[in-house]
Amino acid sequence: MLDIDTVRRDFPILSRQVNGKPLVYLDSGASAQKPRIVLDTIQRAYAEEYSNVHRGLHTLSTISTEKYESTRGTIARFLGAASEDNIVMNTGTTEGINLVAYGWAMPRMQAGDEIVLSVMEHHANIVPWHFLRERQGVKLVWVEPDPDGSLLGDKVLEAVTDRTRLIAITHMSNVLGTVVDVAAISRAAREREVPVLVDGSQAAVHLPVNVEEIGCDFYAITGHKLYGPSGSGGIYIRPERMAEMRPFMGGGDMIREVHRDRVEYNDAPMRFEAGTPGIVQQIGLGAALDYMMGLGMEAIAAHERDLTAYATERLSGLNWLNVQGNAPGKGGIFSFTIEGQAHAHDISTVLDKKGIAVRAGQHCAGPLMDHLGLSATCRASFALYNNRADVDALVDGLELCHDLFS
Ligand code: PLP
Repeated sequence: MLDIDTVRRDFPILSRQVNGKPLVYLDSGASAQKPRIVLDTIQRAYAEEYSNVHRGLHTLSTISTEKYESTRGTIARFLGAASEDNIVMNTGTTEGINLVAYGWAMPRMQAGDEIVLSVMEHHANIVPWHFLRERQGVKLVWVEPDPDGSLLGDKVLEAVTDRTRLIAITHMSNVLGTVVDVAAISRAAREREVPVLVDGSQAAVHLPVNVEEIGCDFYAITGHKLYGPSGSGGIYIRPERMAEMRPFMGGGDMIREVHRDRVEYNDAPMRFEAGTPGIVQQIGLGAALDYMMGLGMEAIAAHERDLTAYATERLSGLNWLNVQGNAPGKGGIFSFTIEGQAHAHDISTVLDKKGIAVRAGQHCAGPLMDHLGLSATCRASFALYNNRADVDALVDGLELCHDLFS
C-alpha cells in the first residue's frame, strides 16, 4: 500500500490554504498537481540544461535531446509498448487524436464509412470525427451506456458493420468513472479487422496500462493529468497503422530533405512531430511517469480502489445527492447534482469557500450530458494523493450546500 502521508509531502501545493482552509484538491480529472520531482526537473532543464533539440551539436543541445528523447522510452515503458518507435510525442490527447484523424483516417475514409463512438466520449474524441463527417460524409455511429453507466463491449461490437473503419472509445469516462473493457473490444475488433483508438486520458492515471495486452491500434495520453506539465503527452500507434499514416503537420524536424520540387520525410515517429516540440514539458513528463512507476501502478490502483469504495459508501449516505454512474469497477470520478434548486456552479462556489476544488459544468461531454438529461454536474475526481479526510471534507461541504440550498 502507498504511504499517502509521504506521497502528499511530494506535492508542495497540497500544503497551501485556499480561502483560509487547507486545500482539498478534487479536480485532478481536469488536471493533476505536480510532485516536487517534476518541478525540480523542469527547473533544472531550464536553468542548467536548456537548448533546442535534434538540431545542435553543442553540449547543451545534446543534453536536451537526450533528456527529451528519453521520455519517448519512458512513455513506451509506461504504456507497455514493444518499442519507443511506437510513440509519437505531442501536447496531449487532443493533438494525438487529431493526428489520427488527419494523418490516418482522412486519407483512408470515404462517404458512408462508419466510426463507432460511445456517447461517453470527451469532445477531444468526438470533434475530430465530426470533421470527417462534415468534410467526407463519414457516419458517426453512437453507442449508449447502460443506466448504471456501464459500457459493455458487446454493445460496442454490435454497432460494427462492414462499413466500420474505426472504433474510437474511452478507457475511462471523465464524467461517470466507468472503466471500459477496451481489451475485449480490441480483441473482437481485430478479428473483424477494425482498428481501435483508445482515449487513455483518464484511465492511464489510475490503472496499469499495457497496450500490447489491450491490443489496440492507438492509445492516447495527456501529460498534465499524469502529474506532468501541461502541453506534454504522447500517443501509442501500432506499427502497421503508423506505416499507413501520412504526416499531418509539416515543418522542421519531421523532414530529412527539403528541395524546391520535393521533400523527403523523416522516419516515423519523428515524421509526425513537426517543429520545435515542448522540450521541457516532455522532460517533465518523463519525470512524472518515472514517479508514478516508482510508486507502482498496482499500488496506485489499489489505493484509489480503496478510496473510491470509501467515497461511494459516504456519498451514498446522502440521499439527496444524485451521483451519476455506478458501474462495477468504476474509478474515482464522481459527478453529481443535489436535488432541488442548487446549480452545479453554486455548489462548486460553496465548496471552494471551504477550500475544496471540484469541477462544475459539462466536462466537455455534451452528448453524455444530453443522454443524462442534465445541463451540468459537479465532479469530484480523486488522485493518488487524496485520502479519506478529503472524502470526509467533501461530504461535510455537500451537507452544507444541502442546508443552504434546500
Ligand atoms: N479525453 C478525456 C477522457 C479527457 O478527460 C480529456 C481531458 O479532460 C481529454 C480527452 C483531453 O485532454 P487534453 O485537453 O489534455 O488534450
